[in-house]
Amino acid sequence: MSDGRTLAREFLEQQRLLGGDTVILSDSPAPGSRPGSVTPPGSSAGLTPGASPGKTLAPAANALPPAGLSYDPPSGDLFSTDPIAQAASLEAIAQLVATCTTCRLCEGRRHTVPGEGPPDARLVVVGEGPGRVEDETGRPFVGPAGELLTKILAAIDLPRERVFICNVVKCRPPENRLPQFDEVAACVPYLFRQIELLKPQVILAMGGTAAQTLLNTKQSLGALRNQLHRFRGIPVIVTYHPAALLRNPNWKKPTWDDVRIARRLIA
Ligand code: SF4
Repeated sequence: MSDGRTLAREFLEQQRLLGGDTVILSDSPAPGSRPGSVTPPGSSAGLTPGASPGKTLAPAANALPPAGLSYDPPSGDLFSTDPIAQAASLEAIAQLVATCTTCRLCEGRRHTVPGEGPPDARLVVVGEGPGRVEDETGRPFVGPAGELLTKILAAIDLPRERVFICNVVKCRPPENRLPQFDEVAACVPYLFRQIELLKPQVILAMGGTAAQTLLNTKQSLGALRNQLHRFRGIPVIVTYHPAALLRNPNWKKPTWDDVRIARRLIA
């Protein structure tokens, strides 16, 4: 099967998970279609609603956002001596973070904030970095923004306790400034290893720093929303950070739309 048709099948399978109508993908290319081309859903070329015989694959209604970026950074190999790559559990990563002095953010921290949640979490929420209350408590997403996140998760029937919540950087940037490029680069191996161990069904990237880090891009949050991205094959939904929602309530509606898409991707 060509790469194009593999992508089409994958897209339609995602549509099926969202509960739309049945779509048939025939095994032979539609007349006039280019070999390996991806046929848009709803088009008659290659994807034939109700056709038979063929393979029932996916619904067309309730469309997911179109496919976006895909980032697949290499993971540590068996012979690596990197302690992060060798960390066998979330607790082991938290212990490494607790003594980490790899970047300048260690200088002003009161507590490291590695993240929290169950090891079998199906959803991973990734934010930017700890704020004041997080730095004081060592817990992610506490304070007003954290309370809003807890409400958002409850609204999609995912108690916070069932979600793994973390940030790109594990120590608080001074004055809540954005983490700088070298700080993100120093800290991101912890996040990548956490995701590797968790193997979630969906990642919710909240805010531009999380989205750009997970997708290895400089595109703006606005440009990255409304697409179904992937990190090591795991679907990534991009939305606003809860702290931004507190500043601009107009973003609550689009955030709600994004979060519902993420929820529907969770089995
Ligand atoms: S922010 Fe990350 S890399 Fe920097 S000191 Fe903290 S744990 Fe280490």
